[in-house]
Amino acid sequence: MPRAPKAVQTPAAADKKAAPAAKSAPQKALEKLNLRRDIDLALHLPLRYEDETRIVKLAEAREGDTAQIEGEVTAQEVAYRPRRQLLVTLNDGTDSCVLRFFNFYPSQQKALAVGTRVRARGELRGGFLGWTMMHPHTRSASGELPTALTPVYPTTAALPQAYLRKAVLAGLKRAELSDTLPPEVAATLKLRPLWTLKQALEFLHHPTPDVSLAHLEDHTHPAWQRLKAEELLAQQLSQLQSRREREHLRAPVLRVNGTGSLHERLLAALPFELTAAQRRVCSEIASDLAQSKPMHRLLQGDVGSGKTVVAALAATICMDAGWQCALMAPTEILADQHFRKLVGWLEPLGVRVAWLTGSQKKKERTAMLELIARGEAGLVVGTHAVIQEQVQFRNLALAIIDEQHRFGVAQRLALRSKTQDEAVEPHMLMMTATPIPRTLAMSYYADLDVSTIDELPPGRSPIVTKVVSEQRRDEVIQRIRGQLEQGRQVYWVCPLIEESEALDLTNATETHAELSAALPGVLVGLLHSRMPVAEKKAVMSLFVGGQMGVLVSTTVIEVGVDVPNATLMVIEHAERFGLSQLHQLRGRVGRGAAASACVLLYSTGDAPRLGETARERLKAMAETSDGFEIARRDLDIRGPGEFLGARQSGAALLRFADLTEDSHLLAWAREAAPLMLDRHPALAERHVARWLGSRTDYLKA
Ligand code: ADP
Ligand code: MG
Repeated sequence: MPRAPKAVQTPAAADKKAAPAAKSAPQKALEKLNLRRDIDLALHLPLRYEDETRIVKLAEAREGDTAQIEGEVTAQEVAYRPRRQLLVTLNDGTDSCVLRFFNFYPSQQKALAVGTRVRARGELRGGFLGWTMMHPHTRSASGELPTALTPVYPTTAALPQAYLRKAVLAGLKRAELSDTLPPEVAATLKLRPLWTLKQALEFLHHPTPDVSLAHLEDHTHPAWQRLKAEELLAQQLSQLQSRREREHLRAPVLRVNGTGSLHERLLAALPFELTAAQRRVCSEIASDLAQSKPMHRLLQGDVGSGKTVVAALAATICMDAGWQCALMAPTEILADQHFRKLVGWLEPLGVRVAWLTGSQKKKERTAMLELIARGEAGLVVGTHAVIQEQVQFRNLALAIIDEQHRFGVAQRLALRSKTQDEAVEPHMLMMTATPIPRTLAMSYYADLDVSTIDELPPGRSPIVTKVVSEQRRDEVIQRIRGQLEQGRQVYWVCPLIEESEALDLTNATETHAELSAALPGVLVGLLHSRMPVAEKKAVMSLFVGGQMGVLVSTTVIEVGVDVPNATLMVIEHAERFGLSQLHQLRGRVGRGAAASACVLLYSTGDAPRLGETARERLKAMAETSDGFEIARRDLDIRGPGEFLGARQSGAALLRFADLTEDSHLLAWAREAAPLMLDRHPALAERHVARWLGSRTDYLKA
């Protein structure tokens, strides 16, 4: 095995055995990077490589190359212009090069004394005075050149590269690296050469210099492909395992009950016909509920596509069978909207709906808890309060989570544990208005079944979106007057509620004052996240009731608010919002038959133009109102890491594989996973443990 070249400085701590109690800073940094086990170290792969295997002759060098040169020091001086610096002239027999150091120690001056032979590595710059290198790495020219490329690992400030390199290479040596891919599975990968994992890892940590650096660095080299395939396989295996485990769990069988059932009566009482898409997803859900294993289904549908009624219909199936249902929403405003809507639909049919929230009075809460425990409340609606420990259901069978990406894994697990009998799990229905692009759905949500509402209820007119500079604010206010004169209502959304030192944003309070002054005789309301809940509700009900013409708000209205008479949405500082957030906000209008519009007000501040990504986001908004297309563009703009980061706390993201570039490997992993689990269960288990370690719980929730 080729040896890595010795680094310039070797941290003393690396060799000494630290006392168990006192961990050194680099050790702590290792743990922080999750580099605990030997295998974790072995799987910590280089970001790039430095080629210290060859010496470049200055006569053959090209400007801008990062190169290693070797020669004799012919001059050394400390210059003071423009500031104190050490200048060392190196001659390699073909030409000379000046090494320039702004920060230097006496020891360096000594090591670079005239007459010594030195190797220097850095970026070569040409120029009037000949070659120069700024702050090159230097070492004495004694000893042989390394035969492998020098790996450079991703690290943090607290973890010196040399220390990390040593730790990784030691971990690689100790790690148990026998293959977990049985030959029949590995063969389907079609990689040439088909190396073992051990060979691939050893190669990636010490590649020979004849390899194309480009293939290593863009991860198309077969060794990289092998690693990425293994990683994707681990993820697919872990999701398949949890799906199969769930298949062994029991859940109450909930069947549609025929004539006279709540379900039928709700359908008959609705003031509208379900769309074909709603009917389709309802029947997908109904057939899951009729099974004796728990449903685990994601219902995705654009803003305004009518997910709430689907949730209500699912709840009736559950209650018809004599079981309780819970619906949880991420904010109190949203939970409150659901509560009102569901009470409106279900109480006339004789259903008791309980309400649970953190801001509730103790007395009301106690009463609700009793209703729930005795089973008198068939449906429980609320915020996070629904999963608190004191909440005891008599017989929970269906848990519905709205805007599921806003809930963490722990919260979803807590809901699942709310059943009386440990062996029985509730059915889970998760709803989201931000659709997940297909490749992500296939990888991160592989153990979810997905239902999609892909049409909006009829009679909605499309929303016209305009991107407008802050300088034309007056015209926007004029437009608001026009809408108000037609009896319509208007949302105005601001990003922050108070002046922040860092961001000079117009705050909601100021805008509220400005609009109140500009629109005499119109009730202009203000809603922001720091208001007491009772006040928020009072403001909301004035707006819902139509008495309030304009609602100025921070993003609390981001999800779920449903006021069909609102036809204009103004978003101030639109450049500060994320794409899916903008889309959600825009979805607050266009809910009735009247034409609606969305104005994205942007400000460039002191900058001459908007930044690149902000411009792309606003452009996407103006060009499409299709949530799926928006999600696809969002993924393009942000990349999967960030895209998912926002929605899935604690999830182990893929470290190596890139879902857009490696879709062929993802397809392979999806086929290989069931085969591995069926025919080689022990290897499958080792594979998952190796790759995911302790993180598997997160993936299962
Ligand atoms: P979201 O999917 O964003 O949660 P909602 O469930 O709030 O959407 O529905 C948006 C509006 O459309 C609500 O006023 C709802 O009552 C109405 N709605 C739902 N389904 C239909 C339908 N099939 N026909 C007409 N209106 C509908
Ligand atoms: Mg909704």
